[in-house]
Amino acid sequence: MKIALIAHDKKKKDIIKITKEYEAILAKHELFATGTTGTKIMEATKLAVHCFKSGPLGGDQQIGAKVSEGQMDMIIFLRDPLTAQPHEPDVNALIRLSDVYEVPLATNKSTAILLFKELENLAKN
Ligand code: PGA
Repeated sequence: MKIALIAHDKKKKDIIKITKEYEAILAKHELFATGTTGTKIMEATKLAVHCFKSGPLGGDQQIGAKVSEGQMDMIIFLRDPLTAQPHEPDVNALIRLSDVYEVPLATNKSTAILLFKELENLAKN
């Protein structure tokens, strides 16, 4: 599967924690990320991640374009609900597109873990 990983700044620690924890299953998939998130994941794990631009510079929109082309199968987007983001319109656009194309999208750690567990289940069957 093609999986996109995005985390707002206050959620970067969380995305690193869960990608480390589920590194073995994530390694079996093709990973994409916004610039800073992807760089930090690659520093913390052995995962290969294709990095788009940083979110505020258009990275979320690049991932949205992939969704619209049928080129993204899952999105983990750990949003910070307590801090205003300069690229809020891009964030909303990506969430909207994931609904248009029925792409599973997790906006918090608990849901992300459920999706990762499902990846493990799919790998077993
Ligand atoms: P970043 O972008 O990974 O480049 O920090 C994430 C975002 O804020 O959308």
